[in-house]
Amino acid sequence: MKVYKFGGASVRSADGVRNLCDIVREETEPLFVVVSAMGKTTNALEEVLERFMAGDRDGALDGFAQVERNHEEILAGLFPEGVPAAVAGAVEALYAEARGVLLSGGAREADYDRWYDRIVSFGELISTTIVSAYLERAGVPNRWIDMRRCFVTSTRHRDANINLPLSAPLLKRAVAGAPVRVFVGQGFIGSTAAGDPTTLGREGSDYSAAVAANILDAESLSIWKDVEGILNADPKLFADTVYIPELTYLDAIELAYSGAQIIHPKTIKPLQNKNIPLYVRPFSDRGKPGSVIRGEMTGRIEAPILILKPNQVLLSIRPKDFSFVIEDRMVYIFSLLEQYRIRTNLIQSSAVNLSVCVDASRHLKEVAERLRQEFRVVYNSDMELLTIRGYTPPLYEKYAESSNAYLIQKTRKMVRIVRRTFPWRPQTNIY
Ligand code: ASP
Ligand code: MG
Repeated sequence: MKVYKFGGASVRSADGVRNLCDIVREETEPLFVVVSAMGKTTNALEEVLERFMAGDRDGALDGFAQVERNHEEILAGLFPEGVPAAVAGAVEALYAEARGVLLSGGAREADYDRWYDRIVSFGELISTTIVSAYLERAGVPNRWIDMRRCFVTSTRHRDANINLPLSAPLLKRAVAGAPVRVFVGQGFIGSTAAGDPTTLGREGSDYSAAVAANILDAESLSIWKDVEGILNADPKLFADTVYIPELTYLDAIELAYSGAQIIHPKTIKPLQNKNIPLYVRPFSDRGKPGSVIRGEMTGRIEAPILILKPNQVLLSIRPKDFSFVIEDRMVYIFSLLEQYRIRTNLIQSSAVNLSVCVDASRHLKEVAERLRQEFRVVYNSDMELLTIRGYTPPLYEKYAESSNAYLIQKTRKMVRIVRRTFPWRPQTNIY
């Protein structure tokens, strides 16, 4: 068994789905295909949710109608001779179910994360329904798998973790004895043991694919992307990026954690545990080798790797009256952040000061208010975190010394800089 994962960009159009079909058809081994929501569907559904939470039912339905139209356009492109009734019916049933949720109303802000999962999970359900139907029509018989019934997750809505021991028998049973070689399942979604839908965190489809690979003892996982492979920086920001042919699991986890968009941070562990190699392959040029992530490297990484994590907030926290050193209250501070699911990306402390760089979150104001009962809290928004792994002195000078850095953390291998977001000219040079 091999696992292939296709992200939103690779299925954003009818041409994309046809390309997916060609890739799947070329493979001769049994294949588990994990698919994300099409194009920007997840973002669109997040907006639908915002309106829904604000009590704007019509706005939410309008937003959802646009999501429907986007999918209808792809369907029309895939089935120019007319969408088969069964396919149209299956997709319409999902739209209707989603509309039903949007009509239910009365959502409380406290249940935001649960509603998120209920509504946003439709993106993947719709995309896989379309992909599976198209493959079938194109002569690739396959079985559509409902991952909500295979992945049992924690109840941590919007950032759920998959319970491997509970999920393994379910997924194995779902693929067992199938008369087909190809399976199509949704990335990003699962459900709690009680059957409540959950999502695994933005870009979580990679994680889904990795867990599927683990459970099915796959020989490899390939993530098909709209890039040549792993690059040493985001090519949208830098003109002089270079391609990195191989990385270890450890490198990959560090990079993903720092905000590299290559793969979701939770992806590596399930692969590492069974020593399954991960290939990042260019969707539009199947002849190219892409990059591989695995336990051992044959060479070494020559280029520095730059990762920019946007949407950061730098909190500076200190006891109001110096009556205690900050260490005494660290557990409290971090449990508060954890309680609101705010991700901490960098920590620096002194006797009476704690600086934490966290992801901007809708709950941050609330957290700051609670902290202000005991602490003086300074709150810098519009920050970004730049991580440079394998930096050189000139690079250090360019980025740490000459930028408006608020906070710098440095080890022999890596420097991390929290700085005010600045309007990046599209594509500068790394050096
Ligand atoms: N569709 C989800 C997202 O856009 C999951 C994924 O693409 O991996 O975040
Ligand atoms: Mg995506």
